Amino acid sequence: MEDRFVYADNAATTPLDRKVLDKMMPFLTTQYGNASTLYTLGQSSQAAAAEARQNVAEVIGARPEEIYFTGSGTEADNMALHGVLKGRQAAGRRHLITTTFEHPAILNTAKALEKEGFRVTYISVDERGLVRLDELERAITDDTVLVSVMAANNEIGSIQPLSRIGELCRKHGVFFHTDAVQAFAHIPINVEELNIDLLSLSAHKLCGPKGVGALYVRRGVNVAPHITGGGQERGLRSGTENVAGIVGLGEAARLRGSQMEQEMAHVGALSKRLIEGVMNAIPKTVLTGARIGYRLPGTCSFAFEGIEGESLVLRLDNRGICASTGSACSTGSLDPSHVLMAVGLSHEIAHGSLRLTLGVQNTEEDVDYILSILPGVVQDLREMSPVWHG
Ligand code: PLP
Repeated sequence: MEDRFVYADNAATTPLDRKVLDKMMPFLTTQYGNASTLYTLGQSSQAAAAEARQNVAEVIGARPEEIYFTGSGTEADNMALHGVLKGRQAAGRRHLITTTFEHPAILNTAKALEKEGFRVTYISVDERGLVRLDELERAITDDTVLVSVMAANNEIGSIQPLSRIGELCRKHGVFFHTDAVQAFAHIPINVEELNIDLLSLSAHKLCGPKGVGALYVRRGVNVAPHITGGGQERGLRSGTENVAGIVGLGEAARLRGSQMEQEMAHVGALSKRLIEGVMNAIPKTVLTGARIGYRLPGTCSFAFEGIEGESLVLRLDNRGICASTGSACSTGSLDPSHVLMAVGLSHEIAHGSLRLTLGVQNTEEDVDYILSILPGVVQDLREMSPVWHG
């Protein structure tokens, strides 16, 4: 097969949808008014932001006034955790519950809160990457204010039992936040049905622009102001609105939300083809995370015995394939990913991890190209490996 370029790292970020860019363009050129001003130019920015708020809200069954725009998914996570623990309704309670395999946007925020004197419990997950509900329920005390569990994991794609977690939180009178940065507009989530009180999302995971996200906060839930200043975003997140970014997020949410069923079917079929192809062609391979049906439609995550994920990623890059590994040697640490450790993989196996995440723009030809390259690259690396005894 001829060499081609295949972008298979859609969990890292996605390409900007052309329709989203077209919708943003006026707000980067002629429609530059500040949304807080009274004249027509500013009012058109305000109307565009209002439409975006409506579009985002619709995807999760929320009301537009429950959506607060932020500068990223990371910021939405920070705003949720700090905001609820320091909000009025915490009423002296200082305990947060989260899991061991959250994104660093949650884990490092939880650690920062611990340094400020809050108490945090980290719940474990099982080998499929699903939170242990009995452990979660046991951890809730009179001091607990908030439970934060991600909707779907960014490395292995496992989807959490949000409905059961929502019920538990409601029963015990604690707030439920979910980091839905990977899940929003990719799988159905309804905040009313699932009893979700706060939800984080980010535009660049749904073919929208980078640097814009949002936090859903259920009406009546008090969140302490995150950025103080001129009072934008109803006083919670001051700063002149990134109107073009917000419009891009709104359009991406509208497009992904309205085509979700077809896109889930398309991406799911591609993933099935890729997972089956890899598992059949490459011996001594672990499919990490949950079974198909309990994982995000586009997430294909593997661990290959006897090799290093980083060498694999570099070799694939040489052949035009963009992929990720969960091992973190490139960040200066020899520790494999905390997610793969949390699901109980050994260090040796976890070092050979590969994440291929497919998106709406991918095709069967892309998958077949990956399948024509990957087995040979794994075999080459294994032959060079001192730890491979195949
Ligand atoms: N949470 C999860 C689960 C993610 O996957 C990411 C990004 O990869 C983030 C939060 C951070 O989002 P952002 O890149 O918009 O800051």
